[in-house]
Formats: sequence, C-alpha cells, structure tokens
Amino acid sequence: MLDVIWFKRDLRVVDHAPLAAARRPVLPLYIIEPEYWRGPDASPRQWRFLRAALLDLRAALAEIGLPLVVRSGDAVTLLRRLHAERGIAALHSHEETGNLWTYARDRAVGRFCREAGIPWHQARQFGVARPLATRDGWSRFFTATMAAPLTPIPRGLQAAPNLIEGPIPEQPIPWHADDGCLAPQPAGRAEGLALLESFLGGRGRDYRRGMSSPRTAPEACSRLSPHLAMGSLSMREVVQRVERVGHDFAALAPAERPIPLGAVQSLRSRLQWHCHFIQKLESEPALEHRAAHAAAEAARRPTAPDDPLLLAWAEGRTGYPFLDACMRSLIATGWLNFRMRAMVQSFASHHLGLDWAASGARLARLFTDYEPGIHWPQVQMQSGATGINTPRIYNPVKQSLDQDPEGSFIARWVPELAHLPPGLRHTPWRLERPPAAYPAPIVDQAAALTAARERLSSLRKAEGFGAEARRVFEKHGSRQRRFAQDDPMAEQARLRAKAEKAARQLSLDV
Ligand SMILES: Cc1cc2nc3c(=O)[nH]c(=O)nc-3n(C[C@H](O)[C@H](O)[C@H](O)COP(=O)(O)OP(=O)(O)OC[C@H]3O[C@@H](n4cnc5c(N)ncnc54)[C@H](O)[C@@H]3O)c2cc1C
Repeated sequence: MLDVIWFKRDLRVVDHAPLAAARRPVLPLYIIEPEYWRGPDASPRQWRFLRAALLDLRAALAEIGLPLVVRSGDAVTLLRRLHAERGIAALHSHEETGNLWTYARDRAVGRFCREAGIPWHQARQFGVARPLATRDGWSRFFTATMAAPLTPIPRGLQAAPNLIEGPIPEQPIPWHADDGCLAPQPAGRAEGLALLESFLGGRGRDYRRGMSSPRTAPEACSRLSPHLAMGSLSMREVVQRVERVGHDFAALAPAERPIPLGAVQSLRSRLQWHCHFIQKLESEPALEHRAAHAAAEAARRPTAPDDPLLLAWAEGRTGYPFLDACMRSLIATGWLNFRMRAMVQSFASHHLGLDWAASGARLARLFTDYEPGIHWPQVQMQSGATGINTPRIYNPVKQSLDQDPEGSFIARWVPELAHLPPGLRHTPWRLERPPAAYPAPIVDQAAALTAARERLSSLRKAEGFGAEARRVFEKHGSRQRRFAQDDPMAEQARLRAKAEKAARQLSLDV
C-alpha cells in the first residue's frame, strides 16, 4: 500500500502540505490529461510553462530522494489501475479551483475514491473556501489562511519501490500549429523567487505608475502570475514575504526604501484580489459559461469561433493600432498588463458586440498565466455581465494617447505603421492616404459606442435588475471595508448602496 501525492497546479515541494502529510511509501504523481489539453481554453504556451515547471519539480523531488512519476491519460482510469496494481492507501492533493472540465474530473475522482474506500485528503493552498453562499467574513478568512505557518519540506520520506518516472513530453497532445509565442516567460521556482526578490528589491519602485502602460508594465509589474497559476510559488509564502518586507520598509526612512511602501501594499492587495476572484468561480463554477447576472445571461447572443470580427480582434487586425499592438504583443509574449487586458476584453464585448465566452476563450489560450477563477469573473466584469460593477467601456484611441503617447509600442508591434510620424500612429485612418498594408477600422467607434450604451442601459432597465444585482453582490461582492469596527451594519448598507449605484451607472472612457 502506498500514499499517492497528486500534483496538480502546485508544482513545488516548499509549503506543500499534501507531500508533508504522506506517512507510507509515497508515489508522487503528475497526470497529463490529453482531454484537458484539447479543451477550448488550453494552449501550447501554457503547456510549455507547465512542462518546465514539471522538470523543475522533478529535480526538487530528487533532492529529497523522491521520483516524479508522470503518466498520460484519464485520471480515474490511471488511479484505478494503480490501486489494482499497488493498493492506494490514501490520495493527497491540494484543492483546485480549475475550469468546469477539472471540476467534473475531480468529482469523478471523488466518486472513484469513495467506491474504492480510498481517503482523499485535499489541503487548501489559496485563500479560497469551498463553495460560499455569502462573502461575509471572507477577508478575515483570507488573512488567517495566509498567516498560517509554511509547511516545511519533508525529509526522510520513502519512495514506493520500483517506480518508473516516465518522460515529460514536448507536447501533451499533437499540436501542429505554432501558437506564435516567440518570447515566453521563463518557468521554474528559481525564476519565480528571483522575480519576487527583484520586484521588492527595486524593480517595483515605479509599480503604481508603470503598471498601466504596456510599455512599462512588463518591467514594473511583479510578473508572478504564471508562477502562482502553476504553483511553483505558494501564495502563502509570497504573501508572508511581501508583508514582512512591508513591515521592514515601514521602519526605514522613505529615501532608504528600495521601493515605496505604497508599491508593497499595492502588491499585497492584488495578491488578495487573486483569491477574491478565484472564490467567485469556486462558489459558482457555472460562471465559466453563464453570466453572473440573469439579465446579462438572457441578453447573450452566441459568437461563432470563426466569426470574422472575433478573428480580426484575436489576431490584431481591427484597424485600431493600439488595440492591435496589445493583441500582437500578447500573442508573442503570453502576457499583458491588467489595464490592457481589460481594454481588449471591453472592446470585444462592447465595440464589437461579441459574446464574452468566445473572446474569453481566445484570451485564455493566449495567457500563459491562465487562471480560470480570475479569468472568467474578470471577463464578465469587463463585459458588463455581473450587474454589480460599473461597466467600463475603454476607448482604444484615448488609451493609446494616454499609455503610448509617442506611439513607440505601436511602432514595435504594428510595423506597418512604424514609418509614420509618432503623432499619426494612433489614428492612421485620418490620413489622407492611410497605409495600404494596415486595415481600416472594422467598426465605427462612435456608432459602436452608441450601440453598446444602448445594450447596457436596456439591460439595466430590465425588471428585477436591482434585486438580482443584490443577489450577485451577496454571493460575490467585495466587502473590503465591511469590518469597520464602529458600525458593521452601516458599512454593509453603504456597500450595498454602492453596488446598487454601480448597477445603474455606466463609465465611458471617451
Ligand atoms: C479580462 C482579464 C482576464 C484576466 N485573466 C487572468 C488570468 O487568467 N490569470 C491571472 O493571473 N490574472 C488574470 N487577470 C488579472 C491581471 O491582469 C493579471 O493577474 C496580471 O496582469 C498579472 O501580471 P502580474 O503578475 O505582473 O501582476 P501584478 O500586478 O504584479 O500582481 C500580482 C498578482 O496579483 C494578482 N492580481 C493582479 N491583478 C489582479 C486582478 N485584477 N484580479 C485578480 N488578481 C490580480 C495576480 O495573481 C498577480 O500575479 C485578468 C484580467 C483581465 C482584465
């Protein structure tokens, strides 16, 4: 009999409670699931990052005398065979908030374990609780979860005998097309730790200003996202390190701090947002395919995967240079800063009128850091589908002028426009003779904005909109200041009123 440690998106040995929980001879296992990789949100760039993290994990396990057994196939079939051959005494893993496919797979594994009488111990790795009916008290829960001591690397574990590790293939399924990621982000735990330390040690000095522009954000932001998504770093270790540094910096004079205290606090807040968003999908897994607000769901019109507007948007051929530059840089690097992710999603939903599920799946495949629990709630939020956030419609020309005033980002990613004087790169259609190699805008911005406003405001006039928005808020809304010591009831009322006001408002970035 042996203990199986099932590695999923937690590819490390540090702060790994399932590994430390093993008592019998252990079999550390990673299952490559071809069916998952055939899904609409999975992509070669994600696999490439994960593969490097797996090789790294294999080396880390070897240091504590353990192999990493890698097998490809259906999880239940593999576990059933393993149980028949060796006898599984217990299955250990972390809780996972993945997509609907992994949710269904976990339910199938749960059924198999119950039938076979195998206890499946699932440890929590994020500040995410199993389904919650209300968000009351969540922030306190997050803080307490992150404050728990890190689990030390276990020493002296005994590997089950005669294990064959198995190869970690170049591809989990045959992918013929190149996905265009020319400059992927390096993977592995050392990379993740180096990013965290370089950020806290100076790289994050301009975080709050630099995060908004795609020119400065790749350097100014932490870039921790794929490491958190694949688990080469533990969220708890990152939060604790950031809090410690914040505490240390507070004791220094401002000029002596490697980065401003505000940048440290800002990073700490975002780490909490990570779990705040994942909690939404954990509490309502259907958010991957169903709008949070019933009126937004009723108003949806499906978009075909080969819709010409969708393809033009996804390939950076909309005729809006800054937007196209963002999409092309995302295709080439697998990463985009938050503001530009919001802008491209907003453009697809509002300007082009595309269904958020279709554009969201395209973006998911382009993100190396694809994290379903952040991704789908964000996609819905930027598309005005939640009913509790003020929908924001970004104007790609204004963003271009604000975030790339010299047009250098455009020149880099849209070489068809590089020869134009900087001031003319934002709106080439206004030239007497626009460059022939670059498309004209696929939609008229003013007409598209009017149509989007009408769609959103008619949604908000639907009967029962406010009551449904209150329901969504109760389940998913942030209670950031809910724990005001003086008057928690008044704070709740304030937050509810704020959510209702947001439900009536539109924010146009014109
Ligand atoms: C439409 C859309 C889709 C998104 N999809 C993803 C996704 O699939 N995976 C993903 O990790 N992030 C996603 N984000 C959130 C955000 O854009 C990225 O987390 C961030 O850009 C990653 O870069 P970073 O690690 O340098 O972030 P930093 O700014 O350095 O932040 C540090 C960490 O905080 C968390 N974080 C930061 N911003 C947010 C946010 N707005 N919401 C939730 N968590 C946040 C992330 O874990 C991030 O790694 C999405 C945002 C939008 C608008």
